[in-house]
Amino acid sequence: MQKDQLRALENDPATSRAPFSVAIDGPAGAGKSTVAKRIAKRLGIIYVDTGAMYRALGLKALRLGIEPSDIENVLPMLPGTDISLDHIDGVQHIFLDGEDVSGLIRTEEVSQAASKISAIREVREKLVELQQALAEKTSVVMDGRDIGTVVLPHAKYKFYVTASAEVRAERRYREYEEKGKLDGRSYENILAEIIERDDRDMNREVTPLRPAEDSVIIDTSDLGIEESVAAVLEKMGLSAL
Ligand code: C5P
Repeated sequence: MQKDQLRALENDPATSRAPFSVAIDGPAGAGKSTVAKRIAKRLGIIYVDTGAMYRALGLKALRLGIEPSDIENVLPMLPGTDISLDHIDGVQHIFLDGEDVSGLIRTEEVSQAASKISAIREVREKLVELQQALAEKTSVVMDGRDIGTVVLPHAKYKFYVTASAEVRAERRYREYEEKGKLDGRSYENILAEIIERDDRDMNREVTPLRPAEDSVIIDTSDLGIEESVAAVLEKMGLSAL
């Protein structure tokens, strides 16, 4: 069923440009990675989390004691930096200069570093090239901030998954609480972090976060995960399994 449907999508003359790609953009904490993973699984294609690439570069800057928004020091770091992805048992792993840093990039410090370093044009050019090369080789569901607008402007399906800042902060708060990652922060602290990152991502000069004109907007403020996934699948003409 799953394979047949994917084949049907690929054989559709409108989507015949193989490989097949789905672009999912949106602000932090809107649920886009959860939705993207589920859609990828449903279609039997790989999920690519582009945020992990910016996080890995942010981590490298932090390790070197470089302020991630300091262009003068970030630029010389780029040519000697190798970022790559691999999928192990269906799970994406991110490698920084050959080291698997997947478990090290999910801290608030790295989130803010990624957001700062991603505002640098040359950083974006390097990573966008990698992302486009990946999507040329294989079918992907790719999530990020500029996938529908810049990385895969010809993606067959484009979604912009969003939710109010308050709802996103609430979800983050609960997630961190469950994982014991609150580090003494209150809901208000988390909300302030989300607003700070939104502000930087939406107002940067180079490809700011915004929905592609031809994207479908999915507001998950009042939706649970299953409902969000179902909403995306419905727009693709697919049913949940
Ligand atoms: O998606 P995630 O929260 O992991 O992304 C971390 C940061 O990387 C974002 O806040 C954003 O600044 C940046 N990013 C980006 N473009 C992408 C993916 C992430 O600028 N395609």
